[in-house]
Amino acid sequence: MNRSIAIIGAGVSGLYAASLLIEKGYDVTVFEARDRIGGRVLSQNGFDLGPTWYWPDTEKTITQLVDRLGLKVFPQHTTGDLMLERQAGVIERHTLPPEQTVLSMRLEGGMATLTIALAAELPEGTIELETTVTSIHQTEDGVSVTVETGSSKTFQHVMLAIPPRLVSRISFQPELSEATKAKLSATPTWMAGQAKVVAVYDRPFWRDAGLSGLGMSWSGVLQEIHDASAPGGYGALFGFFRLSPAERATLDRDELNRLVVEQLVRLFGEEAREPRDVLYVDWSSDRDTASLRDAQPLTDFPVYQPIALDADWEGRLSLAGTETDSMFGGHIEGALRSAERVVDEIS
Ligand SMILES: Cc1cc2nc3c(=O)[nH]c(=O)nc-3n(C[C@H](O)[C@H](O)[C@H](O)COP(=O)(O)OP(=O)(O)OC[C@H]3O[C@@H](n4cnc5c(N)ncnc54)[C@H](O)[C@@H]3O)c2cc1C
Repeated sequence: MNRSIAIIGAGVSGLYAASLLIEKGYDVTVFEARDRIGGRVLSQNGFDLGPTWYWPDTEKTITQLVDRLGLKVFPQHTTGDLMLERQAGVIERHTLPPEQTVLSMRLEGGMATLTIALAAELPEGTIELETTVTSIHQTEDGVSVTVETGSSKTFQHVMLAIPPRLVSRISFQPELSEATKAKLSATPTWMAGQAKVVAVYDRPFWRDAGLSGLGMSWSGVLQEIHDASAPGGYGALFGFFRLSPAERATLDRDELNRLVVEQLVRLFGEEAREPRDVLYVDWSSDRDTASLRDAQPLTDFPVYQPIALDADWEGRLSLAGTETDSMFGGHIEGALRSAERVVDEIS
């Protein structure tokens, strides 16, 4: 008989683990809180509001997976000069030596083409959307998973594929020890305090002026700006914010858009004034990504590693997710590697 496994979370790690386990003959159900798959992977009209890049020189798992799934890729546009704003309105133009640019790749149609392709490999009915898991109990027959509506199902194993800090939203019987809870809560969720904005234009006009679309600022609302144009399609610039979640929360969308566009005009010229669209997602207010603690800006790069769960859950519960990978924790590569690690442990 096939062993039954519940995976909590249909982000990259949960979907990839599901595909690996199904390939090995397991009976898999994926529970996902949102009404969509992908988790932090989010593309709108082909523009990425979550992850954008992977780095093929070092990230072998995603490189091979993208290849196997037959996804179309293209390099990040970096040709041209960088614009630097050290203080408001004081703009410098710099030519970067080519060897300073590390090759990063993007997916045509956005990073969501990866999670869509992974989900397409799963048998119909594997993923249950809009199904938040609220409690996980051991029973005589296995492990019972209860969702927000109160309904339960029993599995032989449960894999959590969610940010460690969100594990506290689920109740466990037997309870997780205080030491385990402390380790989970001390692990910051990568990029959970961030927000991303994409300004879409008819064409990448900054390239005419020899600019790469790369902008850095120590004073504007955006800290880091990159070319996000679709190949052969609309031009786009995306930015990460310098403002903290608390500072962003004081601004309404119109005011935020106005400040973003003004900064893009200062850096890239008047043509930036009339975007055809401005897309925005604040991950810090996304309850299925961020916890309250993630609103605190990170002061150091987090140290990620597998998080051991308690002995009385051994063989019944495991934890995947990018925050549990010791080499590429935070990246999609880390999410994929964590899925491989946990699948190896289970099977
Ligand atoms: C703005 C931004 C930019 C980024 N840029 C890059 C980049 O360029 N390159 C890169 O490699 N990485 C980047 N990352 C990181 C990358 O997005 C993550 O490493 C990866 O998506 C994490 O996947 P995951 O499966 O571990 O977690 P998640 O994507 O967080 O998936 C967890 C899933 O679990 C669900 N869930 C949570 N709790 C429950 C529950 N109780 N019941 C049911 N479902 C639940 C959530 O809804 C979610 O779908 C970026 C992230 C952000 C936010």
